[in-house]
Amino acid sequence: MSTYPAVAVCAPLPVLGRDVEVPLVGGEKVTYAALDYAASAPALQRVWDDVAAYAPYYGSVHRGAGYLSQLSTDLFEQSRATVAEFLDLRDGDQVVFTRATTDSLNLLASVLPAGTRVFAFETEHHASLLPWRRDDLTVGYLRAPRSPEQAVAALEEALAGSGDGPKLVCVTGASNVTGEIWPVRELAAAAHRHGARIVLDAAQLAPHHPVSVRDLDVDWVAFSGHKLYAPFGAGVLAGRGDWLDAAEPYLAGGGASRTVARELDGSVAVEWQQGPARHEAGSPNVIGAYAVASACRALTEAGFDRLVDREQYLIERLRAGLAGIPQVRVLTLFGEEHPRVGVLSFVVRDWNSSHFSAALSAEYGIGVRDGLFCAHPLVRTLLGGETAAPSECGAPEASLPGERSLNAIRVSFGAG
Ligand code: PLP
Repeated sequence: MSTYPAVAVCAPLPVLGRDVEVPLVGGEKVTYAALDYAASAPALQRVWDDVAAYAPYYGSVHRGAGYLSQLSTDLFEQSRATVAEFLDLRDGDQVVFTRATTDSLNLLASVLPAGTRVFAFETEHHASLLPWRRDDLTVGYLRAPRSPEQAVAALEEALAGSGDGPKLVCVTGASNVTGEIWPVRELAAAAHRHGARIVLDAAQLAPHHPVSVRDLDVDWVAFSGHKLYAPFGAGVLAGRGDWLDAAEPYLAGGGASRTVARELDGSVAVEWQQGPARHEAGSPNVIGAYAVASACRALTEAGFDRLVDREQYLIERLRAGLAGIPQVRVLTLFGEEHPRVGVLSFVVRDWNSSHFSAALSAEYGIGVRDGLFCAHPLVRTLLGGETAAPSECGAPEASLPGERSLNAIRVSFGAG
């Protein structure tokens, strides 16, 4: 008989799509079990309700004199303030609304001063690994550490001889492959000791843990609404404003420009905005921003303590179940006991991971993810250093059976 209290597994936050029925191979129908939150989490009912309540008041932002435009502008700016509170930002920090984490990190890459040296562990998601490949930047990729202490020591060593110019460290708060939580505060301290700035990729951390920019002492943080129980289409880059204000806008256009004047010589002179508007050219995604803010409020009100407790209980239960299956190997960098969010990947001996995941879907209605999870170097390291032909992000690769599989299976869940 199960020793697990049923109450602990009740989802604390209602989400959409809980009762979707899917057909199994035999024709029977079952309620779909979504276990792929790390890719995109279902939106909270509360977020949809908030968005629906806002819909009648829809108007252009920062542009209209009419009542609805003013209301939309207020909601947009209030959403910014809610996100700032959610992230516990410092005075003077900015919140820029983007499309998602990938967009946020590309934005940051676009504003780095020429000559910036960027440091990232090869274990990062491609969104944190690749945006820095600009001709006027240099990127140092650090080998996969096998403990949090090794990570800090490796960063210290890399930064020690890195000179005086501008430097940026990019680190992920929680791995989208192993779910393991990284020593962000210690890495931030190491970065600052050597005059570097640090950006936190919180795509996987923010939906599961409180993220305090002030407490972690990171310079920027990036996350995606669609992983934080809001719909697709909006994300955030938040943090220090100086490099953001000094750089050319990420997108050029209306909203980013304060004044545009035709000069006598026929050229056009532009004075760009300071602050978030500088990098938010064009009509902004007000509904997306509002939905992100609604999700931030919902998580805060639900209480992260409660969410973390439930998630830890579930992840322990999953680990215990998998530990009882000799063919299963859980993928880990820092050791199985290391704290993780509700994300766990594994391989099954004598099983091709893609076939295994397809069978879970077809025979049980369970939706997991298989592949290299947009973290090819990390997954290959975890699988034993095998190399495979590059594949599209997320596309299952033809793989060898079991331990020699070139991809893995990922289970992930969260608050809803
Ligand atoms: N960073 C991490 C750790 C992720 O897991 C992901 C997405 O899976 C991203 C960045 C990119 O997020 P998005 O696809 O929302 O831009």
